[in-house]
Amino acid sequence: MTGLREKILTEIDRLEEEVVQIRRNLHMYPELSGMEEKTSSIVSRYLADIGLEVRRCKNNYGVVGLLRGDKPGPTVALRADMDALALDEKTDLPFASKVEGVMHACGHDVHTAVLMGTAAALSTIQDELAGNALFLFQPSEEFFPGGALGMIDEGVIDDPKPDAIFSLHTSSFPVGQISIMAGSIIGSVSTMSLRIFGKGGHFSKPNLAVDPIVAASHVVVALNSMMTRKVDPLDSAVLTFGLIQGGTRDNIIGDMVVLRGNIGSLDEGLCESLMEELEKVVKGITESMGATYKLKYIHGYPTTRNDPEMAEYVKNIAAHVVGEQNIISSTPTLGGEDFSYFLQRVPGAMFFLGTQNPEKEPVPIMNHDPRFNPDERAISIGMKIMAHLVMQYAAR
Ligand SMILES: [Zn+2]
Ligand SMILES: [Zn+2]
Repeated sequence: MTGLREKILTEIDRLEEEVVQIRRNLHMYPELSGMEEKTSSIVSRYLADIGLEVRRCKNNYGVVGLLRGDKPGPTVALRADMDALALDEKTDLPFASKVEGVMHACGHDVHTAVLMGTAAALSTIQDELAGNALFLFQPSEEFFPGGALGMIDEGVIDDPKPDAIFSLHTSSFPVGQISIMAGSIIGSVSTMSLRIFGKGGHFSKPNLAVDPIVAASHVVVALNSMMTRKVDPLDSAVLTFGLIQGGTRDNIIGDMVVLRGNIGSLDEGLCESLMEELEKVVKGITESMGATYKLKYIHGYPTTRNDPEMAEYVKNIAAHVVGEQNIISSTPTLGGEDFSYFLQRVPGAMFFLGTQNPEKEPVPIMNHDPRFNPDERAISIGMKIMAHLVMQYAAR
């Protein structure tokens, strides 16, 4: 095995420059969730060129590559997401986005390139590989209902059925470090759309109108108070209204306000009960003011839970690549991630790949920031860990 491991490390070092170029090319031409037509073509052509069995999904732009090892053994799946975000890039990189209003600001270009490179590296040891490597490139992670379920419905994890599944996500801690935790790592998110209806009128006669802006203001403040009173202080949950819209001009009382927001928690049950509490608050406030409301909510991605045994396995593999002192444990986030659907069906784990360059970026720039600029040295680290997760699985 040592010989094989050295072989794969050498191969990854040889591939590094090519994979960095692949990433830069993906970065220049980002595609929004559900529109990853060109990206999926690039991926499927590449996988076919390196000799994998390739399947393109019908439900969405998902691409699946299968590498059958010449020796019998388990099937290990690796997953990457391919979509970008609706943002105007604010970096001055020579390979900055050429698509107005769209940017790879969550590092999914890195995820996709790492997985392509991992497939290329593993394909060179096919004759010595025990078991199969299943590469899942999924679209639309950023936008509910996501791309994972569409692929699962199409049977991408049915034949061969993976024994384990792994994924990585770029994160704004120093390059060279890896974070891996067992259990709940990313929360579940519910999205809500609330409309509050009043009765319009002249600004000088509010007594004859029902002002939905005042009702909405009370609702926002009351719901933020609710979060401090209805959530056990030892649990965690977050409520944010990201959008509020109402009225037409300064001297008119409008007749409707729209609010959109998210509730996130590591505990899906808590998300659901908070939605019920939220509706009671909205009902009480609007009724007392003579307004009415319509509330719609969608329970989004479930909580992402790492299998403890698989998390331990990732930790051991990553320690071989970056050294034990570079394995850190970060706190869970409440962001939402549709890799959770895969983890509900196959034991596995997601780990975080440090992509901050502390010299150039003393204050870390987070994912989803238009200045997000992951350090590309993380790419070969990602490939080495992913490749070893496949190669070592049978012998773990
Ligand atoms: Zn994201
Ligand atoms: Zn992401």
